[in-house]
Amino acid sequence: MTEPNRTGDWRTPAETSDYRTTPDHAETMAYLERLVAAYPDKLRTEEFGTTGEGRPLTIVIASRDGVFDPRAIHASGRAVVLVQNAIHAGEMDGKDACLSLLRDILKDRERGRLLEHVVLVVIPVYNIDGHERRSAYSRINQTGPELAGWRANATNLNLNRDYLKAEAPETRAFLRMFHRWMPDFFVDDHVTDGADFQYEVTFQIDETPNVFPATAKWVRESVTPEVARRVNASGHRTFPALVYLKEETDPSQGLVLQPNPPRFSTGQMILENRPGLLVELHMIKDYRARVTSNYEVLRALLEVINEDPATLISLNREADADAARLAEAPARAERFPLALEKDGTPTLVEFHGYQFTRALSEVSGAMWVRYGREPWNVTLPMETVTKVASSVRPPVGYIVPPQWTRVIDVLEAHEVELHRTRAAWTGEVERYRLRELTWQAPPFEGHHPLFRGEGAIDVPGSLGRCELSTEVLSFPARSVVVRLDQRLSKVVIHWLEPEAPDSAVRWGYFDPIFEQKEYGEAYVLEKLARQELAKDAELRAEFERRIRADPAFAGNPTARLEFFFARSPWGLANRVGEYPVGRLRSLEGIPVP
Ligand SMILES: [Zn+2]
Repeated sequence: MTEPNRTGDWRTPAETSDYRTTPDHAETMAYLERLVAAYPDKLRTEEFGTTGEGRPLTIVIASRDGVFDPRAIHASGRAVVLVQNAIHAGEMDGKDACLSLLRDILKDRERGRLLEHVVLVVIPVYNIDGHERRSAYSRINQTGPELAGWRANATNLNLNRDYLKAEAPETRAFLRMFHRWMPDFFVDDHVTDGADFQYEVTFQIDETPNVFPATAKWVRESVTPEVARRVNASGHRTFPALVYLKEETDPSQGLVLQPNPPRFSTGQMILENRPGLLVELHMIKDYRARVTSNYEVLRALLEVINEDPATLISLNREADADAARLAEAPARAERFPLALEKDGTPTLVEFHGYQFTRALSEVSGAMWVRYGREPWNVTLPMETVTKVASSVRPPVGYIVPPQWTRVIDVLEAHEVELHRTRAAWTGEVERYRLRELTWQAPPFEGHHPLFRGEGAIDVPGSLGRCELSTEVLSFPARSVVVRLDQRLSKVVIHWLEPEAPDSAVRWGYFDPIFEQKEYGEAYVLEKLARQELAKDAELRAEFERRIRADPAFAGNPTARLEFFFARSPWGLANRVGEYPVGRLRSLEGIPVP
């Protein structure tokens, strides 16, 4: 065996170009393979799936003692930190930061200490197909590098809206890899859009009511302030929250702290009971400033975790156990928060923006903001979105009829524990009836969802009318029973509770239940209407009230006849809006192994 070659020029491709360019995927992997060849005892690459266009997805693992087996690493008490780059492949700063960081960890004794109590797992490029769609015109908002990749994958899906519905091959591969490694901490590197300000980097670890409270407290008190302090001490400026202006055309109105629902990577982490750090480099800063700031955030986080890996590891263990207890009384008496809204009590934050002027634009006809370079150091109100807008009492589990294969398939992609019934079962369940829903007309991520999806982040409004009742229903053999006494209970609730922001209902997986399949011809319904009017005085009164109160109804012959059909046994036989998933109050008598 020849000695590994550790001599020569170890500048990364971005460093070599003085941060004018970023390497393509082949060049990125060639640099990493050269590092692996030089340090095979500490660094390894591993494939974890294939992109839509057939490119192998790869992670790079840095482990100080050459142990690359996740079980052995967890048993050794080291924390596994997973860093994801280029999910939005025009935002590739984290990839170049990670090349520098991995090199420094291997070559510099001081940096090498970052592996003392941590094993670092890096996805150099997650959205590889998007990354290879290189152009100078990918991101109009962003300063450099010369060529950058595309936001979406090869089917034009935004992978950072796909975590819960898991439709893309990249997401499915990610979930398998994630569960194989079970990282203790997750990082997702991005570049902003939005406002201009002095900070080179903003970052956020979501603290929604779905987060295990002790983890939220530890993050708030020990991680966020320490990472911010260390990044600022390195000479880079950081703000420990993502910056969303309350009013795009007037920064002085303040900020809104947005949580990430589970379609986002960091929202998914909440359902996985793990802390997720979202890093956003500032789009207008030059590429050197962005890559080196990204590097400092990762260094600071790894330092903080190295100083106390045991707390992180034990919080994760407790969070997993806590999630598996959601279905137990008395936890079940507490309602589980699904959707959030602004709580209307802003806190004041110190903010370092740039001076700006506002003017009426003759182009748009609206007010526009022009940012200058003079500092605007102010105290601004920041609204938080933590008020619970809808919540549920967790059942002990759900039962899904076997014909809803696409819905079950998503649960399987998440590696949720499922059981198939051995025989048909009839019993008491709680079920929803859904009415008065509105679908979004333009597509969003290949769907016409039951929420407003055009914005970067939205807080879903009410679903319509969602009523729960107790009924005796029959479920065929091979129906899927999903118990909530498992680590991934929050994935199950968010997928199967209709009002959750990324539920199967909201994404349209249950759309056929809202279709009426049998209709009555007008001359047939005339007969029905006359019979009903003659025998049911209450119905007659309701019909007449509706005619008086609702001119659109009064002027619509089809709607007038439909009024009688919908209330008749023939209309009700369509079962429109009857959600086929049962909420189980007990597992007794259900024929599962
Ligand atoms: Zn992004």
